[in-house]
Amino acid sequence: MERIYFDYAATTPMKKEVIDAMMPYFTENFGNPSSIYQIAQINKKAIDDAREEIAKYIGAKANEIYFTSGGTEADNWAIKGIAEINKHKGNHIITSKIEHHAVLHTCEYLEKNGYEVTYLDVDEYGSINIDDLKNAIKPTTILISIMYANNEIGTIMPVEEIGKVAKEHKIIFHTDAVQAIGQVKIDVAEQNIDMLSLTAHKINGPKGIGVLYVRRGIRIAPLIHGGAQERGRRGGTENVAGIIGLAKAMELTHANIDKKVEYITSLREMLIEGILKSIPHAKLNGHPTKRLANNVNISFEFVEGESLLLLLDMQGIAASSGSACTSGSLDPSHVLLSIGLPHEKAHGSIRLTLGEASTKKEVETVLEKLPAIVKRMRDMSPLYEDYLNKRRH
Ligand SMILES: *Cc1c(COP(=O)(O)O)cnc(C)c1O
Repeated sequence: MERIYFDYAATTPMKKEVIDAMMPYFTENFGNPSSIYQIAQINKKAIDDAREEIAKYIGAKANEIYFTSGGTEADNWAIKGIAEINKHKGNHIITSKIEHHAVLHTCEYLEKNGYEVTYLDVDEYGSINIDDLKNAIKPTTILISIMYANNEIGTIMPVEEIGKVAKEHKIIFHTDAVQAIGQVKIDVAEQNIDMLSLTAHKINGPKGIGVLYVRRGIRIAPLIHGGAQERGRRGGTENVAGIIGLAKAMELTHANIDKKVEYITSLREMLIEGILKSIPHAKLNGHPTKRLANNVNISFEFVEGESLLLLLDMQGIAASSGSACTSGSLDPSHVLLSIGLPHEKAHGSIRLTLGEASTKKEVETVLEKLPAIVKRMRDMSPLYEDYLNKRRH
């Protein structure tokens, strides 16, 4: 059976070039970058080059790039590190209701430790309102953390405007750009972004390696204490192969980026139009245009999303019902509830996310199979039967 992977927002396969770039750092270049002999210094140089390469793609400088174990650690560090070092200045943090759990759960943890957090509402498309942000600012506000683009519904936040407001008020602005990398052009200087999280495995790189960019001059407390690695700010022997893989993945994802985004957007539009045309009682979640090139999120009335995923899986199609982290729990997605979906509609939603390896033929296959699966589920649904009966009377 043909297997179709439409869950690129959850993770991506590594590219061969990425693996090839990493291989020597598992074998001959095995030295500890902190050692002084040559086989170790090769690695130190390789890490410095990687830092340079990664910085280039987000408009940062090499010495503003800090390696972490991934997006989750970068988010944790940004928020806890700024909260701790600024506690004499204030204890208030502003974020949004639709952040990734790496941000939300970190904020909830800080709330238990004496910090105050404002979770901004989002509109029906999943975007925060700039006036709400301005109104939320207090003399005690030390950090604004708002994601660049949402992982479930693909909505791109008004990052430049947020950056402007943060700058005017001299508040540090952190953005989780894990999903945005490779899909939108990011320039931390132009967009007034003080801190940014990214991870390799969402852009065809290895799992377990990411970056926190921290603008020069910003003070941040360490999250991981230990050796003097990462200029004394993040202890632990460097994940050398991972770092090399991340740099390679950044390079490859940014090659021909405009063309790739255009191609993936065309597949996205084909998928959205096809689904909405062939399946009644279906609605697109997220913003129609200010959305990631690869994201499709649709609610189907009278359908249970998890069962839909299982039936899709039986047909060889891998999709998701929201963020991978919430799958397995019965609570509907906090993102879908925040954009105003009632519980039953949130439960009937699926996310299909594309990658540069996705094809028109795959989209056609999904468009061919999905309507029959949804129909089969509705035919078994007592709610749908009720609905049809009411319409008849
Ligand atoms: C995947 C993801 C993360 C977590 O990154 P990991 O490297 O898997 O820890 C954080 N934020 C967003 C928006 C994500 O999509």
